[in-house]
Order: sequence, then structure tokens, then C-alpha cells
Amino acid sequence: MAKELTSRSENYSQWYNDLVIKADLAESSAVRGCMVIKPYGYAIWEKIQAELDRMFKETGHVNAYFPLFIPKSFLSKEAEHVEGFAKECAVVTHHRLMADPNGKGLIVDPDAKLEEELIVRPTSETIIWNTYKGWIQSYRDLPILINQWANVVRWEMRTRLFLRTAEFLWQEGHTAHATEAEAVTEARKMLEVYADFAERFMAVPVLKGVKSANERFAGALDTYCIEALMQDGKALQAGTSHFLGQNFAKAFDVTFMDKSNKLDYVWATSWGVSTRLMGALIMTHSDDNGLVLPPNLAPFQVVIVPIYKNEEQLAAIDAKVDEMIPKLKALGISVKYDNNDNKKPGWKFAEYELKGVPVRLALGARDLENGTVEVARRDTLTKETVAIEGVENYISDLLKTIQANIFQKAYDYRASVTREVNSYDEFKVEIEKGGFLMCHWDGTPETEELIKEETKATIRCIPLNGDTTPGVCMVTGKPSAQRVVFARAY
Ligand code: AMP
Repeated sequence: MAKELTSRSENYSQWYNDLVIKADLAESSAVRGCMVIKPYGYAIWEKIQAELDRMFKETGHVNAYFPLFIPKSFLSKEAEHVEGFAKECAVVTHHRLMADPNGKGLIVDPDAKLEEELIVRPTSETIIWNTYKGWIQSYRDLPILINQWANVVRWEMRTRLFLRTAEFLWQEGHTAHATEAEAVTEARKMLEVYADFAERFMAVPVLKGVKSANERFAGALDTYCIEALMQDGKALQAGTSHFLGQNFAKAFDVTFMDKSNKLDYVWATSWGVSTRLMGALIMTHSDDNGLVLPPNLAPFQVVIVPIYKNEEQLAAIDAKVDEMIPKLKALGISVKYDNNDNKKPGWKFAEYELKGVPVRLALGARDLENGTVEVARRDTLTKETVAIEGVENYISDLLKTIQANIFQKAYDYRASVTREVNSYDEFKVEIEKGGFLMCHWDGTPETEELIKEETKATIRCIPLNGDTTPGVCMVTGKPSAQRVVFARAY
């Protein structure tokens, strides 16, 4: 079978690549590190976008759009920001090509050199805060609660489809506030939105926490994050929300008159999730047969496959399906009827299994006689024969069951590989097995760096709702305020 996948136990990384390609989600392109997102993959991304967009608007945000290019001088205004991003920037130097005088195609026209070079945005804090300067004079102009859906470019050296690409799609929220407390509240609120989305829609359980200084966003005072755990025991940072303090307001001289007529710098946040979420979705639930999609994000939740021997049988099934589809749609269920005559039912079954369609209905001539339909679940690969009468309610409940079941499965897996480790010797053994290790750490970047060098593990986060019993650092024996989460990560 051409579509067979490498199994997860054989080679997890190869399984992931095979799956992304064979399920028609995305493929590599002619441009190094940049992917083509194919229609089926893009349909999932659109679902992710639609729900997040709804959640952002419900929390008071509006969408806007800022330029793709950022003047080079903007990037250098915030010292830590430039240090974090300079090494992965694509730079535009010229605005015209010309015929090569030696007849070898096109060359950059040396007369078309830009006066100031432009950076392709790796993130938009600088261009946005330069713009906000013109929008903010008094406390009455605040808060600004803006989100942008865009593409960004970070010249990543080691890329993986969806998980880490040189160009990726994302949303970036950029908010401006009159007080520190309000900005911190905003950053934490958006972290909650991300966690809620990950758990209720992606069915991916996440840990909420704060990054250590080493892992913090360049230019932030605090980076909050949601961390997910993939089936191979490696962690994935699934979303970040930054409290930026007054750093960008100071860099771009954005001040406002507060209620007591005092001039102060504006407080900021930014927050983003990207097409990396697709990788999280794939790696959390899928199996050796293909994708397993949560019903809440599947491009279509139900596929109906007719089983027939002749035109007459197909016509009878078509008529029955014509009655079923409006009933399913009335319950908000998305459905595809695949009566394509060029493909055999067996091929279709394998195809929709590979594509992770949550529920498959098979309807044959005998079913019509008996008033039944075969219902197959993608998550458990089990089948049942149920009455066609009222099947829409049955499916509606089943989709909720599947959504809950795959979340629980991921949650139980995470629980089974999350453990407390108390000594560094034990840590070195345990980290090889993967999972989240909850350990005491002395809070210094030096100790974190040492652990990273020796074991490739990083602090994924300092959990927000974790156990805050103090202890001693597993490496140095110095005091530790609480356990933090270590893992090897993507
Ligand atoms: P940051 O601006 O670095 O906080 O990143 C915002 C979001 O984009 C986070 O959720 C990251 O996981 C994600 N992200 C960062 N770099 C990449 C990349 N190269 N490809 C895909 N997603 C990324």
C-alpha cells in the first residue's frame, strides 16, 4: 500500500513527516525551510483561526494589519529585542533586478540599493509601537487591544513541517495599557484564552506557566506560556503571552498623560500562536493508521461512504443520504458524502482513516432494508450498527464523546510520564525516558544552562498552579522556591 506510514515506535520523527505528507496537510517547497500548506491542512488551520478569532473578539480585541517590512533601524531600538532576533532576519537590500550584462539571467541592480534596508518582520512589536506613538496621547486613548493575522519570517536553521518553519502563519496581539497591573492582567488573560482553546478545541492538555529568564521572549519582562507534551515524551511550546513592561514604549518614546496629568510610558503586552499548533494537534492524537482529529477542528466531522453493487443500489442510497444530510447539518455537524464512483469503499475507508475524520458512516443495500447504518469511530477504530432513524442525535453525542475521549487519553498519557525527580543523577536517567520532570532548581541561569548542556533538557516553565512547596536545587543544593518543569523539547 502506497500510503502506509512508518510506525511511531519504529521512528517517531519519520512517522510525523510521513503523516503530514500522506494526510495531505503540507509539503516542503522549493524554498528552504518554507512549506506549502495544502487544502486539507489549511482547512484545519482555518478552523483554528476562526475559533481563536472569535475568542479574541469576545475578550474585546479587534483586528488590524501592519506592514510586512520593518526599517532596520527600528529593530535596534530595543536592545534585548534586537539581540534575540538579529541572527534570524531576512533583509531586503534592493528594490530592482536587471539583466546580467554577462547574459546569465538576472542580477540585483546596484543602482537600486535601498537607502535604509528593510527587515522582513520576525514579529511586529517595533513597527507597531512606532505606529502607536501617533495614536496615544492621553489615558483616554488606552487601552489599545489589537490583534493581527499575518505571516512572519525567522531564518531558522533546523526546520520541521509546521513545528518550526522559516516562514510561518500566526496571530500576534499587541496591546497598550495605562497601568502595569492592567497589562499583566491582559497577558495572563490571553494565556487563559490559549489554554482554554488548546484544551477545549484541540483536545491538547497544557501546562500554564512562566518562562525562566533564559527562555523569555527577547524584550519581555515576563513570558507566560502553554506547554504541551507530545506522544514521544518531548515538550512543545504551544503559545506565548508576554508582559513587555514599558520596554517598547521607552524604545519608541510612547508616553501618555495619566488621570493626574502626569506623563508616563505606556505598558505593553504581546501574544501569539502559530501554525506550530498544527504540529501539536498532529503529534498529540494521531496513531499508526494516520491522523486523529478532534471533532471540534475537523474540516468535516462525518464522512458517508455508500456500499453498492449497481447503479440502482447507489440511487437508493443517494436518496437516503439526501434525507440524512440536512438532519446532520441542522445539528451543526459537518458532513461529506463520498459517492465518487472511481474509488472502491476499501480505498475510501483507508483514506478517511488516514485523514482523521472522526466518524465514518457506511451505508449499503442491506442497511437500507434493515433501516441501519454502520458507524465507525476514528479514535477507537471501533464499529457499531445503529438505526438510521435518529442517527443524527446519536452522532451528535458521539462527536462529543470522541472530543472528550481524545482529551482524556492525552491527559492520562501526560500524567503517566510526569514525575518528581529529586537528584541530578536520577534526573540524568529519567530524562532519557522523556516526559515532564518536576524538579527543584536554584533559580539561576547558570544552573539551567549547565543542565541544558549536559542533558539537552530545558525548563519548560515555572508552573502557575503548581506545588509551591520549597526545597533544594537538585544540582547545587541551594534553596528552591518551587518545583519547575523540565523536559526535552521540540
Ligand atoms: P514568540 O514570538 O517567539 O513568543 O512566538 C510566538 C509563537 O510562535 C509561539 O507559540 C511559538 O511556539 C511560535 N513559533 C516560534 N517560532 C516558530 C517557528 N519557527 N515556526 C512555527 N512557530 C513558531
